[in-house]
Amino acid sequence: MPDPILPAEQRGGFRFRGGHRALDLVATLAARRKPAPRELLGAPGDVERWLVAAGFASGAHATEADLFTARRLREAIHDLAVARIAGKSGPAEARADLNAVAAGPAAAPQLDPQGALAWHGDAAGLIAEVAREAVLLFGGAQALRVRQCEAEGCAILFLDTSRAHDRRWCSMAACGNKAKVAEFRRRKRSAG
Ligand SMILES: [Zn+2]
Repeated sequence: MPDPILPAEQRGGFRFRGGHRALDLVATLAARRKPAPRELLGAPGDVERWLVAAGFASGAHATEADLFTARRLREAIHDLAVARIAGKSGPAEARADLNAVAAGPAAAPQLDPQGALAWHGDAAGLIAEVAREAVLLFGGAQALRVRQCEAEGCAILFLDTSRAHDRRWCSMAACGNKAKVAEFRRRKRSAG
């Protein structure tokens, strides 16, 4: 069976199901709830690819320090998001890490000659921009719309922008369908 995941959710080998760049960064540690999580940010080049896939089409060069910062930021965003979902403010260490990265010199949004958005800055600046977006998310009204996928074993975070605020899956095409099939089988068993 072909993978039903929509191409738009998958770019540069990374998943983008969160509807928000800061939440998508968390997905770079794949299979987080499973016994063997997969680190997708294994080298500075992975950070460069993620930044491009995340919409910063600048081709910024990343260093080992940028790799460390990106992972530290990722875990801070994860811990704060999970805490928010549980109705808590989050661990102080995660908040300190997020704030530290967000206070770094950020990249500048600029208009290119075609009138399109272009980010000017190095990898550290782009990572700082992701941290600022996370601060705006958690500190704003949308913090209440951060969710974690309800599919078994899926840890993907997303921003629920549905009108009824009742989105349950990171991806309808992947986890949503799987859950529906499982539910159908359960019902069939109990009926038969
Ligand atoms: Zn999911």
